[in-house]
Amino acid sequence: MKALVYKGPRQVAIENVPDARIEKPTDVLVKITTTNICGSDLHMYEGRTSVEEGKILGHENMGIVIEVGSAVERVKVGDRVCLPFNISCGFCENCERGLTGFCLIANPGNAGAAYGYAEMGPYSGGQAELLRVPYADFNCLVLPPDAEEKENDYVLLSDIFPTGYHATELAGMKAGDSVVVFGAGPVGLMAAYSAMIKGASKVIVVDHHKDRLALAEKIGAIPVDNTDESCVEQIMSLTDGQGADCGCECVGYQCHHHDGHEVPNLTMNNLVNAVRPTGGIGVVGVFNPEDPGAADELAKEGKLAFDFGTFFTKGQRIGTGQANVKAYNRNLMKLIHTGRAKPSMIISHELPLEQAVEGYANFDARKDGWTKVVLKA
Ligand code: NAD
Ligand code: ZN
Repeated sequence: MKALVYKGPRQVAIENVPDARIEKPTDVLVKITTTNICGSDLHMYEGRTSVEEGKILGHENMGIVIEVGSAVERVKVGDRVCLPFNISCGFCENCERGLTGFCLIANPGNAGAAYGYAEMGPYSGGQAELLRVPYADFNCLVLPPDAEEKENDYVLLSDIFPTGYHATELAGMKAGDSVVVFGAGPVGLMAAYSAMIKGASKVIVVDHHKDRLALAEKIGAIPVDNTDESCVEQIMSLTDGQGADCGCECVGYQCHHHDGHEVPNLTMNNLVNAVRPTGGIGVVGVFNPEDPGAADELAKEGKLAFDFGTFFTKGQRIGTGQANVKAYNRNLMKLIHTGRAKPSMIISHELPLEQAVEGYANFDARKDGWTKVVLKA
């Protein structure tokens, strides 16, 4: 089969690889119809992880079941399914509690498993023609009859729509809250969108890419085009000088350019300063335990300096981690099905799998207009 494989920093290629196949009785085999490129893939692409050469990437997958293992009872051949990026067993202590991003069985000794991702287990990704889905009865979200028609909406249930929603949950967001979101990438936009759906009184989105801020505005958020310390002042004045009720970090470790210099990420500090006393902060942007490609020394060791004194004095709360996609994807699917949510509005490019290399390069460059790339296998 054809698949997108990692070759080295900023090098990926489409290659012919052995077909994915059923390996355990609880697996199903899925013929991929849509698979997305994610900001999380860029941590690997940019060389900030230990991902091995030859790994098939792709954790945002949707397709048609073409074969079921002998122990699979619920999922049927022909079902159109969306797969949570987390691979989870469904029966360990964490899965039992709905914390499927931290399954203890699918990737023993590590925090959670995923398709096509560094340190997230031996699983291949879905930027390919075929995908093996473990614990399939638990993981497959079987889609309603409008699956094909709304393919680009449903495929976002694999990760970024639930992840954006998770950011607002980690922040403890309630109807009527004002919410500030750092990052207007796909995840930040989905956090802003989720906050709107959940009844935010005001959503503010911070980034420095005008095209992405324009989408934030389309969602109903107030764009703040500034990522340095002064964005805090703008947020304060938009929230009557008190700060937002809650905040979402949807950037993760990455450097951005300011006045011609690479500056480390200041989002945590900005959030602590821009969220009101006792407010909540949800961090879904990824900070790696080790970041060999990081531009700042602390981040190379997975450390991040932020103003803990202010955080403590303000009595704020923080939640972090990979999204437990299964906790949200069924209800978000219902919103798409009934037409109450249409997250595909953020998809900018639909490319054939063969053009994935171009998709990676442009999305990584945050080239104007390249907000979210979906690949058609
Ligand atoms: P992305 O990396 O393109 O989005 C990040 C956005 O943040 C960009 O638009 C960038 O311009 C902006 N940005 C950079 N520095 C900033 C700063 N200092 N202040 C404000 N904005 C800044 O792509 P994405 O897909 O949206 O991914 C965002 C993050 O979410 C990544 O770290 C990704 O790994 C993470 N992620 C986490 C989960 C999870 O389950 N926790 C799931 C998916 C993605
Ligand atoms: Zn993703």
